[in-house]
Amino acid sequence: MKESLILISYIVSAILFIVGIKKLGKVDTARQGNFLSAVGMLIAIVATLFMMDAIPFEWVVGGIVLGAIIGAVTAIKVAMTAMPEMVAIFNGFGGGASALVASAEFFKIYGKNADNADTTTLIIIMLSVIIGSLTFTGSFIAWGKLQGKISGQPITYPGQNIINGLILIVMFVVGYFAVTNMGGFLADTAEINMRWFYIVISIGLLLGILSVIPIGGADMPVVISLLNSYSGIAAAMTGFVLQNHALIVSGALVGASGLFLTNIMCKGMNRSLGNVLFSAFGKVDESAGPAQTATGVTVKEMSAENAAYTMQAAGSVIVVPGYGMAVAQAQHEVRKLADELEKEGVEVKFAVHPVAGRMPGHMNVLLAEANVPYEKLFDMDEINGEFQSTDVALIIGANDVVNPASRHDTNSPIYGMPILNVDYAKTTFVLKRSMNPGFAGIDNELFGYDNNYMVFGDAKATVSKFVETLKEG
Ligand code: NDP
Repeated sequence: MKESLILISYIVSAILFIVGIKKLGKVDTARQGNFLSAVGMLIAIVATLFMMDAIPFEWVVGGIVLGAIIGAVTAIKVAMTAMPEMVAIFNGFGGGASALVASAEFFKIYGKNADNADTTTLIIIMLSVIIGSLTFTGSFIAWGKLQGKISGQPITYPGQNIINGLILIVMFVVGYFAVTNMGGFLADTAEINMRWFYIVISIGLLLGILSVIPIGGADMPVVISLLNSYSGIAAAMTGFVLQNHALIVSGALVGASGLFLTNIMCKGMNRSLGNVLFSAFGKVDESAGPAQTATGVTVKEMSAENAAYTMQAAGSVIVVPGYGMAVAQAQHEVRKLADELEKEGVEVKFAVHPVAGRMPGHMNVLLAEANVPYEKLFDMDEINGEFQSTDVALIIGANDVVNPASRHDTNSPIYGMPILNVDYAKTTFVLKRSMNPGFAGIDNELFGYDNNYMVFGDAKATVSKFVETLKEG
C-alpha cells in the first residue's frame, strides 16, 4: 500500500514537472509553470521522506531547515542583476549534490558487500560522480567569469585540447579500474578501489575548471546552458542509482531542456557546439594588432530631451534591450516610455537577441516583470527584416548584440555571430554610461556610424528623462 502511494505520488509529480516545464516555455504562463513544478517537487519530497525509514528524522528536518535558510537569504539578498551568477552557482550545487549522493552510494557498496556489487550500478555511479563534479567546478568558473573575478576572455595555452582529451581518457581508465576492482578484478583490497574513486573525483573537478576557462567572451551563454543540462543529467544518473523515478524524470527534463537551450544559444551565436567547446571562441586575436580603442572612435552625442523629441516625431521605434538595462533596472521606465510613445501614435516593438543580458531569457524575464505585452516582443529572426523600415532603433544598454563588426570583420572575435540589424534603421540611439565595451571586451563600430547618436548616462535616468520630456511635450 505504502509503495503504491509513493509510486502514484511520483507519477503525479512527474506530470506536474512536464506540464510545468511546458508552461515555462511562454512568458504569460511561466509563473503558473513555476508554481506547478514547485508543487510537483513538494509532492516528490514528501513521498521520498515517507520512503526513507533509515534516515533519522532530525537529519532530514535539519537539512530542510538549513537549505531553506540559505535559499531564502540568498533569494532576498541577491540583487536582480546578480541573478545570472546565482543561477550559475545553483547549477554547480545541483551537480555537486548529485556527485555527493552517488559517492555515498559508492561508499555504501564498498562498506557492505563489494564482491557482489552490480557493475551497471557502479558504472552509473561513476558517470554521475564525473558529470556532477565537473559541473560543480565548471559552474564556479562560470560564476567567476560572470562576476568579473576571472577574466571574461578565453584563457588558453598550447596543446590545450590535447591535454584536456588526455585527462578525459585517464579519467575513464581510472573510473574503469574503480568499477572493475570493486569485483576484485585487479587488486586485492577494496581500499585500492577507493583510491581510484578519489582520483576520478579529483580529475572530474579539474576537468570542470579546464574545460570552462578556454571559453569566454560572447560564448558564455552556451556554457551556462550546457552546465545547466549537465546538472540535470547528473541528477538523472543519480536517480537510476537510487532507483528513484521522480529524480530520473526531473533530471531528464532539466538535462533535455538544457540541451535544447544550448542548441538555441549555439544558433544565436551561429556556432556549432564543438566549435564553442574546443576553439576558444571569443578570444581577441592579438596577431591582428591592438584593438582599436573605444575612445578612438568619433561619436556624436545627443541630449535625452532631443532624443525624446526625435522619437515623438517618429512613426516607428524598435527598442533593443541589453545587459545595461538589467544593471540600471530600467525595465519599468522602459515600459512607461513605450506607453507614452504609443499615446503619441508611434508604433513600438521590442527586439530580443537570444544572448542579450547575462543568462538565457534574461531580457524576456525583465520585460515580463515590467508587464510589457508579450506580443510586442520579437525574436531576432522575426524582427531583423523590419529595421530597414524603422525610424528609430533605441538601444538600451546593449552592445555586443548590435555590433556590426560581426558581419564583416574577420578579425573580430564575434565574427559570424548574428546581430540585431539596428544600423539599418534610419537613426539609432545608444544609451550607455561610457565608451566601455560590453562582455566580449571589444569596441563597437556602430557607435561611430553616421546615423548613430550616443545618449550617455545611466539607462534608468535617461529613459526617465525621455518619459518626462514626452509628458511635458
Ligand atoms: P553587453 O555586455 O555587450 O553590453 C552591456 C552594455 O551595457 C555595456 O556596454 C555597458 O556600457 C552598458 N551598461 C552597463 N550598465 C549600464 C547602466 N546602468 N546604464 C546604461 N548602460 C549600462 O550586453 P549585451 O546584452 O549586448 O550582450 C550580452 C553579452 O553577454 C554577449 O557578449 C553575450 O554573449 C554575453 N553573455 C550572455 C549570457 C546569456 O546567457 N545571455 C551569459 C554570459 C555572457 P557602460 O559601462 O559604458 O555603461
